Amino acid sequence: MGETRYFRAGWVIDGTGAAPRRDVLITVTDGVFAGFADFSEEDRLPEGLLTDLSYAMILPLLVDSHTHLGMSGTIDRAAREQQLGNDYQARKKIVGANLRNYFGHGVGAVRDAGDRQNAVLRYCREVAQDQRPPVIVKAVGRAIHAPDRYGALIGASLSDDPRKSAETELDGGADCLKIVNSGLNSLREYGKTTAPQFSPEQLKAMVNAAKSRGAPVMVHANGEEPVRRAIEAGCSSIEHGFFMGRDNIELMAERGIYWVPTLFTMHAMRVYFEGLGGQADRSVIERTLDSQFTQVAHARRCGVRIACGSDAGGYGVLHGEAVVEELKLLKMAGLKISEAICSATEHGARLLGVDHELGCLAVGKPAHFLVARGTIGQLPRKIRFLDAIYHNGAPSPLYRKEPEYDFSA
Ligand SMILES: [Zn+2]
Repeated sequence: MGETRYFRAGWVIDGTGAAPRRDVLITVTDGVFAGFADFSEEDRLPEGLLTDLSYAMILPLLVDSHTHLGMSGTIDRAAREQQLGNDYQARKKIVGANLRNYFGHGVGAVRDAGDRQNAVLRYCREVAQDQRPPVIVKAVGRAIHAPDRYGALIGASLSDDPRKSAETELDGGADCLKIVNSGLNSLREYGKTTAPQFSPEQLKAMVNAAKSRGAPVMVHANGEEPVRRAIEAGCSSIEHGFFMGRDNIELMAERGIYWVPTLFTMHAMRVYFEGLGGQADRSVIERTLDSQFTQVAHARRCGVRIACGSDAGGYGVLHGEAVVEELKLLKMAGLKISEAICSATEHGARLLGVDHELGCLAVGKPAHFLVARGTIGQLPRKIRFLDAIYHNGAPSPLYRKEPEYDFSA
């Protein structure tokens, strides 16, 4: 017979997208969820075993499905230039700091979407588990782009043969393959899209190389044709997907392909517009973001599995806090708060393949959860000021509500 503890939660958001549940008695045995029931004052619980969290909301640890751990999200342009030339020792420090920031914001797993120096995979290999912040990292290594096309900041054009490039990354320890199949969104000309980087045959060859090793494939794609080709090739998720159009959204719903819409990275360019130094047109940024809101609303209606990804490391997109910002934007786009949370819990955990450990709160799963003070209407904002992070039914001693702030980033 194991050790059993009880928690009274003001609200439970279980991460499946179901409506929040009020006043719940949670039972945890040996660090594993054993039950969720309506709380009743009449219940006689063994003395001293009940933790009162009736003032708070309980939700799963979060997942950021799209990040760049090797870069900081600083808006200092000189620092951004400089960090591209960072060696491994400098990058290693940034990766560690970014993971600490993630943990402090209740994030339990992240997926690194490309790092041209392969510092993230090296960090995971070289830094022992017990010396890292407790955040699960899945990484793609270098993102694969076509010669002379966009992608050098986050990856490499490794070979004339895309299949070989894919195999090189997978053999190097990548958990997932990342293909760059379009350019970036124009910040000067609204809706201007770019041609696909790869032919259907090349995409298929890379996807098959990944699938034969059991690795999922994430594809950076904006615009109708680049996205359509990625879907047809059998990718697992579309990253960004600006201007992909309704037909692609409907196809993704049909085929169960995840979508990571990365709203905040566009929003950050509006917020920190002055720092862009005349490279952009403000109204183009605003209209581009609006069109993405419309696409998210359509995807929600169609039942596309939306996963929350911040694209942290981008201009003004800070690791950890940008997850909360992304959730705010998903809510603005029309997702209910429970659906937005689901994008950063159950959907993210399944996409990363970490749903045995994270994802929804359910009987039989490890009792990892966040404690956020307040009521549902204050979400997602309250996730930025967590009361506690529980691991296996106990508060993590690594989480401090008032961390020592690092002003160097
Ligand atoms: Zn990215």
